[in-house]
Amino acid sequence: MDKYEILKKYFGYDSFRNAQERLIDHILAGNDTLGIMPTGAGKSLCYQIPALMLGGITLVISPLISLMKDQVGALNQAGIHAAFLNSSLTTTQYVKALSFAKQGRYPIIYVAPERLVTEEFLDFALSVNISMVAVDEAHCVSQWGQDFRPSYLKIVEFVKRLPRRPIVSAFTATATKEVKEDIIDILQLQNPTVVTTGFDRGNLYFSVITGKDRYGLIRSYLKTHRNFSGIIYCLTRKQVEEVWERLRKEGFLVTRYHAGLSDNERRTNQDDFIYDRAPVMVATNAFGMGIDKSNVRFVLHFGMPKNIESYYQEAGRAGRDGEPAECILYYSSKDVITNQLFIDHNQDNQDLDDVTRAIVRERDEERLKKMTFYCFTNECLRDYILKYFGEYGSNYCGNCSNCLTQFEQVDVTEIARALIGCVASSRQRYGTTVMIDTVHGANTAKIKSYRMNENPYYAVLSKVPTYRIRQVLNHLQLEEYLFVTNDDYAVVKLTMKSKEIMEENKQIMMKLAKALEKPTKEAQVRSRKKRGGQLGKEAFTEKEESLFEKLRALRTETAREEKVPPYIVFSDKTLTHMCVVKPKTKEEMLKVSGVGEFKFEKYGEKFLSCIEKFESTQN
Ligand code: ADP
Ligand code: MG
Repeated sequence: MDKYEILKKYFGYDSFRNAQERLIDHILAGNDTLGIMPTGAGKSLCYQIPALMLGGITLVISPLISLMKDQVGALNQAGIHAAFLNSSLTTTQYVKALSFAKQGRYPIIYVAPERLVTEEFLDFALSVNISMVAVDEAHCVSQWGQDFRPSYLKIVEFVKRLPRRPIVSAFTATATKEVKEDIIDILQLQNPTVVTTGFDRGNLYFSVITGKDRYGLIRSYLKTHRNFSGIIYCLTRKQVEEVWERLRKEGFLVTRYHAGLSDNERRTNQDDFIYDRAPVMVATNAFGMGIDKSNVRFVLHFGMPKNIESYYQEAGRAGRDGEPAECILYYSSKDVITNQLFIDHNQDNQDLDDVTRAIVRERDEERLKKMTFYCFTNECLRDYILKYFGEYGSNYCGNCSNCLTQFEQVDVTEIARALIGCVASSRQRYGTTVMIDTVHGANTAKIKSYRMNENPYYAVLSKVPTYRIRQVLNHLQLEEYLFVTNDDYAVVKLTMKSKEIMEENKQIMMKLAKALEKPTKEAQVRSRKKRGGQLGKEAFTEKEESLFEKLRALRTETAREEKVPPYIVFSDKTLTHMCVVKPKTKEEMLKVSGVGEFKFEKYGEKFLSCIEKFESTQN
């Protein structure tokens, strides 16, 4: 079977996403590979599909038991034999799993890193053909990351013990340079192919709401989103307790999670959430690592986290299935004080010397400041986050609370004409910064050495701030009125469309942030309500809505019988697609995204007859 057939047959998907195919091809060509992609981008498939094609066994290293259980469960549901080896197994279970593994029953085996160099495991590993070691959550090898796991350092030791070096692939959602370098160095990847995708999560709606009665706002959010699963993050354990208690008393199906609870209770509560018995989780930031639940439709923050990294990671747990999901931060000025207290009383840096501690502290304060700015900016929230991570956003996303309330159409023709005129008159030889500096009239050595101060467009936009000129330049580039070469010099060139502006007097309009104060709380809440029904099933009619509910109930029932979380039976996305396709036959059902052959054998008829029954009651 080729990769496309595997994708369709086992996973039920028609096409690969962006980077997936590249990563898979690199692995199949025998190269070490590093994939850096945001949460929900589909990293698992990038090693699971090659694992089925390489022959031999792929070992997947994963930091958490819950992650392994989830992924192995999903693979088995898809008809792929996989197993995990970690401390959740009894000795008997472990020995049995190893002996099945030796017989070659599992092409994919998930292993906890601390197991790798134990005698038993090495004995097994040396007796079979290991074709790949795939390191999931690879940032755990780095001390720079937030999730450093010393046991990840054993991976290299293990690989060295093998008679034949397997392909080593690594995957993470952490994008910083230090972490990336650490992964390559510490895992000793050999000439790795690195594939990095953009960090934008287009399906996530971002919003900041400033209000006094945060509890009340959250409660009314839950009321209008009753059947959805979501997470409410609080800053402190005490807050978790309060919010959880109040919501519970008001009859919401909520559970809670923080470091002050017993292991046992944490495990139970986490399971309740994953299995949708308690679809809403109230938690501190201790919750979430290793949660692959794909149908989380909202992440609400009761309070501002300490930095953008944490916020994006936590908010990013929404909408892993790619369906619309909402990330709302409920801000109060008290949050800054709470976070400052955390920084003041940070116990993590006890063994650092004074100078280093001061540096760390300064860095933390700087990050807190950037987080606070996020709550006040009038610019596009998504753009703000992406810029923080060093990516160019497109200035206006149309899917955040600022874009929906804070933007206005502005005529930017004059700026556009100046830029294009400048590019033409300097014969398309220079980069973006030279163009911007010229029209703005910068008096720098570089400008003089290029004699751009003699250009007819020099200083024609001296009153327009450079950031605005850059936004317009980006816009012109996106709309293909200008082209920027993709090399080190990033030279600005004209396009076929450039003359529409210069010769045909075309007007250029662009959405830009209003230079105004934030609107009142009420205005923001209203704008959010307008989007009310958007979650998951925006374009649904009432009929489709009720079919979705029927299918969802069937999924819950099926999951209970199978003892797996509902989203592992079928994702929200798959159910949504089913409501659109309304399949009548097996062939039609197999066209639904996420329905592979194996899943069809297991559940297909059940869901078909549910749809048929529903349709017959409609006519
Ligand atoms: P990551 O590990 O990158 O956070 P996952 O591997 O858990 O992401 O995948 C997230 C979701 O995307 C899963 O529900 C998965 O089934 C789905 N998915 C992955 N690849 C595809 C694809 N090519 N088409 C449709 N859905 C996909
Ligand atoms: Mg993953």
